[in-house]
Amino acid sequence: MTHLLELNSVSKVYHRGLINAKANVALRDISLTLSEDEPTILTVAGESGSGKTTLAMLLLGFITPTTGQIIYRGQNITSLRGKDRLAYRREVQAVFQDPFAVFNPFYTVDHLLSVPIKRFKLAKNKTDARNRMEEALTAVGLRPEDVLGRFPHQLSGGQRQRINVARALLLKPRLLIADEPVSMVDASLRANILETLRNLQRDHGVSIIYITHDLTTAYHIARSIVVLYRGGVMEAGDVDAVIKDPQHPYTKLLVDSIPWPNLNQRWGETPIIARDDSATGSGCPFRSRCPSAMDICATRPPLFQTGEMQAAACYLYDKKPEVVAEKLTQLL
Ligand code: SF4
Repeated sequence: MTHLLELNSVSKVYHRGLINAKANVALRDISLTLSEDEPTILTVAGESGSGKTTLAMLLLGFITPTTGQIIYRGQNITSLRGKDRLAYRREVQAVFQDPFAVFNPFYTVDHLLSVPIKRFKLAKNKTDARNRMEEALTAVGLRPEDVLGRFPHQLSGGQRQRINVARALLLKPRLLIADEPVSMVDASLRANILETLRNLQRDHGVSIIYITHDLTTAYHIARSIVVLYRGGVMEAGDVDAVIKDPQHPYTKLLVDSIPWPNLNQRWGETPIIARDDSATGSGCPFRSRCPSAMDICATRPPLFQTGEMQAAACYLYDKKPEVVAEKLTQLL
């Protein structure tokens, strides 16, 4: 199997202060892989402070790992230069939370879409550029005549977010980092945007890393999931298995807190659970909140395989086989 993306034991540590700087581990020892042959949607789920935005910034090359490597199609992204770096910038695109942020209120949609076309020299002439814009807008379910020539304030939040997706799609990406893409969009438009992302994966072969705090949307869109807490992987595997039958006490807490009307409807809102920062050091990051905590939990647990397509970093399962990074790849 060829790998589109490999994260090998990636950690990111920030230091606060100049003298006696305090280390803040934002992401710890993350390993995962996406196949190039089978485009998929992987959800990275977690509360605020879980490290999911740090992961997005690492994947987009905005920051570099403190330790570990991010390998994209066989190349370490921190050593990419020149043409290879430009290709990475083109092939790995992002859609962010705020659909307003990428718009300049003084420019029309045409201008917004023309920027990547010019930057990456995608079109032969103006007609070709226009055709590409129309093609990308149609692919995300918009009628070009409804949005081209318009200013941002003349569009709805849902239209703006879909234009963001179209902008990414213009570059024919292989990987899309979607960081909370529906959290600032009206509930009535969320399903529409999630469906647009699913179409990109299915019809255009784009792999998507969908970053969210909302397990209900994760359940709606993804095939597999990684649950993060305080920078570490708590549970991972097939999204159906993890959400319908969570094994890690933290995932159980997250799932139990969702007012699911009915799992088959796959809809609702995930409430924010109060975060407890009192656990420090090298043990299980969840132990200060965990009803099952034991002495051994003062040592950080590895991932144990709890089901055919599921693994949890918890000593409640220490009789099960440990999951090494290569094996985790198969679960996702
Ligand atoms: Fe709880 Fe220990 Fe499992 Fe952590 S390792 S979730 S503290 S039982």
